[in-house]
Amino acid sequence: MSKQDSILKEMDNLFPNPKCELNYSKDYELLLAVMLSAQTTDKRVNMVTGPLFSQFDTLDKLSKLSISEIENHIKSIGMYKQKAKHFKSIVSSLVEIGGYVPNDREILLKMNGVGRKTVNVVLSNLYNEPCIAVDTHVNRVSKRLGLALMDDDVLEVENKLMKEFPKDKWSKLHHQLVLFGRYKCKAVNPECESCNLKDFCRDVHEYEKKA
Ligand code: SF4
Repeated sequence: MSKQDSILKEMDNLFPNPKCELNYSKDYELLLAVMLSAQTTDKRVNMVTGPLFSQFDTLDKLSKLSISEIENHIKSIGMYKQKAKHFKSIVSSLVEIGGYVPNDREILLKMNGVGRKTVNVVLSNLYNEPCIAVDTHVNRVSKRLGLALMDDDVLEVENKLMKEFPKDKWSKLHHQLVLFGRYKCKAVNPECESCNLKDFCRDVHEYEKKA
């Protein structure tokens, strides 16, 4: 079995039904939550978006919040001042284009605070578009498993993953690699001893050194 097939098989074994761990019930809530999730955990984002989206349950209500009011709601997460500005700007952009998140990469990328990773997560979850969003987990796991070079930037990692795996696997694999990085192949103290992918791993020697 090829390395790629082994990885896909193990991901299906570990995470047969992976999904985004950010809570949302509306398309714009996902876009805002993904923007807020930069440099922080999904859990922490859910803690602020839960009360915020419940109290202001329409785009119209969110659009009436000032930047300082948004700051007050999200101040427990990192970079909240900058994120509050992006939040306000994204909500205004969405209101301007009709109040929905378009299936249009170019329009989304023009919004403040919305980068390639955010667009990939949003299009994949809302529109089932084949995408591989490279966040910190996908980046680390891809490099450990030799799917990318250590000094590749996130775009290079994304391109290599898209080349290595069939298109119909991309979205699911993205979620699986995020979960694998979050819960097993962690940045610190990865669970190498029980990892079925250690034959392919560049970092397994760290585990062997400790063993
Ligand atoms: S052996 Fe360890 S570092 Fe390598 S992929 Fe598995 S969990 Fe990650």
